[in-house]
Amino acid sequence: MDFQENENQKMIREMIKDLGDKHIRPYFMDWDENQIFPKELFKKMGDLGLMGILVPTEYGGSGFGYNEYVTAITEMGKICGSIALSMAAHNSLCTGHTMTFGNEEQKNKYLPKLASCEWLGAWALTEANTGSDAMRMKCVAKQDGDYWVINGTKNWITHGISGDLAVVIVRTGELLDSHGMTAFLIERGTPGFTAGKKENKLGMRASETAELIFDNCRVHKDQILGKEGDGFIQAMKVLDGGRISIAALSLGIGKGAIEASIKYSKEREQFGQPIANFQGISFKIADMATRYAAAELLTMRAADLKNRGEKVTRESAMAKLYASEMCVYASNEAVQIHGGYGYTKDFPVEKYYRDSKLCTIGEGTSEIQKIVIAKSILS
Ligand SMILES: Cc1cc2nc3c(=O)[nH]c(=O)nc-3n(C[C@H](O)[C@H](O)[C@H](O)COP(=O)(O)OP(=O)(O)OC[C@H]3O[C@@H](n4cnc5c(N)ncnc54)[C@H](O)[C@@H]3O)c2cc1C
Repeated sequence: MDFQENENQKMIREMIKDLGDKHIRPYFMDWDENQIFPKELFKKMGDLGLMGILVPTEYGGSGFGYNEYVTAITEMGKICGSIALSMAAHNSLCTGHTMTFGNEEQKNKYLPKLASCEWLGAWALTEANTGSDAMRMKCVAKQDGDYWVINGTKNWITHGISGDLAVVIVRTGELLDSHGMTAFLIERGTPGFTAGKKENKLGMRASETAELIFDNCRVHKDQILGKEGDGFIQAMKVLDGGRISIAALSLGIGKGAIEASIKYSKEREQFGQPIANFQGISFKIADMATRYAAAELLTMRAADLKNRGEKVTRESAMAKLYASEMCVYASNEAVQIHGGYGYTKDFPVEKYYRDSKLCTIGEGTSEIQKIVIAKSILS
């Protein structure tokens, strides 16, 4: 494992900082307050290569590996969790699934559009009654000649309204058969495919989360990713990579909360001295920084294994579990360190606090990560 930041990572960090200063920081509180999803921003990010980070250059992507990807999501997470979450969902879920399981024709057709963000991607596994227990999904596809007819809904889908292309995993076989689900590439505008309710969320409010509705939606068999029946198995592999994204996003939020706390604790005076002088405050910062360092190492280890093409199920679950719990802990402590000011929108920690909680829920809750880790150890 190489701990040294490479030139690409440095370049990505500086580029995101610049993008953030000009096009995100001045607006994100308004986006957050009003739940505005800034779709145009993602086109700019596409021009900068940030929406196809892992996509090979021959398909119009940046051709980077997971180290650069983690740097990009972490840096963006420090600026705005919502933008980083959307960036992660586009890069590792929709684009990642298409890149890993698409045939040459599908990759040539969709990856350049996704990498440039001419098309924004969505990825739909979850339903209203099947989150952790995704195998019980009810959204079904029935074959009709060369077409499949899809009926049902998907819920909690990032870019459910604004996404131009969705990878949708639906039931094509028996309930609880892990080979009874298939992944389809479905373009926005396909008759019978519409968006439903947009969620009004605690945090990550500028990242759009909405329902997808399928009402006799006819999709050609050429839109199947990989083989019929492989959708669930594919989804689990996609989530192995996706969990590294959420770990990186958690690092970004954690880092932002820690940096804000260090600055504030040196500036804020009580009892005639900076509050950083009080052991009660400095120990909080020591704990936050130590947990951050451990989370970073776990994330780097998962990224390193992924770069080497090795199985990463346990390691990405560990990274996601630990990093997400770290960022909830760090942003909670950050609000405490800021006292009453931390409870207002005048300081960034209030937003880190709200945004952080998604990290212990999305792409598998902390409890589900423990199930994945325990199973990999005990079986
Ligand atoms: C902002 C946001 C964006 C999202 N984006 C997407 C997306 O783009 N695509 C997509 O497909 N999904 C998406 N999701 C859905 C997300 O992946 C699910 O919310 C998550 O997997 C949890 O499912 P659930 O909400 O149904 O909770 P449930 O599965 O109902 O879980 C409720 C509670 O029970 C616990 N629990 C469940 N089963 C067990 C068990 N066996 N043992 C112990 N505890 C258990 C859980 O850990 C949790 O604490 C998104 C969610 C959010 C909030």
